[in-house]
Amino acid sequence: MASERDRIESRPLSDRVEELLAHEGPLPIVTAGDPVLRRTAEPFDGQLDPDLLARFVAALRATMHAAPGVGLAAPQVGVCLRIAVIEDPAPVPEEVRLARGRVPQPFRVLVNPAYEAVGSFRDAFFEGCLSVPGWQAVVARHAKVRLRALDEHGRAVDEEFSGWPARIVQHETDHLNGALYLDHAELRSLSSNQAMADRWNDPTPANAARALGFLLPD
Ligand code: ZN
Repeated sequence: MASERDRIESRPLSDRVEELLAHEGPLPIVTAGDPVLRRTAEPFDGQLDPDLLARFVAALRATMHAAPGVGLAAPQVGVCLRIAVIEDPAPVPEEVRLARGRVPQPFRVLVNPAYEAVGSFRDAFFEGCLSVPGWQAVVARHAKVRLRALDEHGRAVDEEFSGWPARIVQHETDHLNGALYLDHAELRSLSSNQAMADRWNDPTPANAARALGFLLPD
């Protein structure tokens, strides 16, 4: 006998998105442990008509702002499509901007994104995820990536990202492949938001690496 969950999951995605959008305010964000975060999301191929896609993207953006966060992937609101939004006003001190390459990233919609490394440099910094609330950990990521995607109008995107925007692009694209940042984080760096605020607010995780006992890439 099909369960309620199977029944919900077998409906067309457009019905599920309409249902999500029927409620006012930010969309509920699903958290680690929900299998939707571990599935490979379906390529977007017109499952939502242009009007519904535009309304869904607006809701993702509003949800990202409300959280607040700098990126949000559709599976994080329970919709297993290869769509993500990113935007980072980067309100950080100059020393943090310089150390992390955290420059402002304008709002972007990534449809069917894929990335590849450009060069072999990796940067390691603390990051968090709206689907893993309360925690942060250090992840070594490609310092520069080439992103291929479509935008919300179906136009091809082929662009290089570096610094913090490269980190955001990798984090959000990984969500669409069923990966969470913790899968490739340095687990000895795992820190609560309280510990982050009390101890690891530095521009780089060098002190955390010494105190918690993990290695940073050269
Ligand atoms: Zn995330």
